[in-house]
Amino acid sequence: MKDLRRFAEAFVSEESEQSGRPAWWNAPLLAAAPSDSRFDALPKIAAADHFLPRDLLPTVKSVIVFFIPFKKALVMENATGDRPCRNWGAAYVQTNNLIERLSRGLADLLSESGFACALTPATHNFDEVRLMARWSHKHLAHLVNLGRFGTHHMMITPSGCAGRLGSLVSEMDLGDHPLIETDQACLSKAGHECGRCIQACPVAALQPKAFDRKRCWNRLKDNRHTLVCLADLPETTHVCGKCAASMPCSFINPVAEI
Ligand code: SF4
Ligand code: SF4
Repeated sequence: MKDLRRFAEAFVSEESEQSGRPAWWNAPLLAAAPSDSRFDALPKIAAADHFLPRDLLPTVKSVIVFFIPFKKALVMENATGDRPCRNWGAAYVQTNNLIERLSRGLADLLSESGFACALTPATHNFDEVRLMARWSHKHLAHLVNLGRFGTHHMMITPSGCAGRLGSLVSEMDLGDHPLIETDQACLSKAGHECGRCIQACPVAALQPKAFDRKRCWNRLKDNRHTLVCLADLPETTHVCGKCAASMPCSFINPVAEI
């Protein structure tokens, strides 16, 4: 696991130089868990037709989930106004690409030791009618204890929620490597006052105990189709991020600080 973490950290720290993009990323977090019965809960907690790790790789032994946090400057740039900024869209595109390459790099590293792996795409692996992913990096992050769900339905990790997730499965037995230290990482869910993400959502998609996926998804598509600053980015640049910007949970697990 140490080697995988070291590899991921080096990979992400070199990304700006390799890609010619600004340095948008902080050091990634990697968690892993044995592919045991905890994952049988996926059809119940995520989507009825959610894949199980063994569907991707029949000989699976471990599930690995990683989080690539965005740097504060990028997140704060996206905090103003109720529409996303150009850099937020560009970082989304580049990060999806980075996640795919990092996943492949980790898989190659494990394969060199003789252990097969299976990968899934970073995004847009969901049913566009039900808006439910058949491989939800968020639910996997929760199950391997990389983070906890926030009221904004994003994953809050020890490095916050403003970033992106990726995952892979492997037949190497890596053991349990959790990272989150608290049962909850969202202030509201832990019984404290917050709800800042609810107030920040420009289309009222968030409620204390509900998330209107359709409303959120329509906003992401509207941003892509109406904003001139996103016009030259790929059709799949579905971004907003207002509920992750300048929040108590943007860069840390705020419950761990109490
Ligand atoms: S902004 Fe507050 S209520 Fe919303 S997810 Fe973060 S900690 Fe929870
Ligand atoms: S991404 Fe935007 S539209 Fe969706 S819940 Fe967050 S703030 Fe609301």
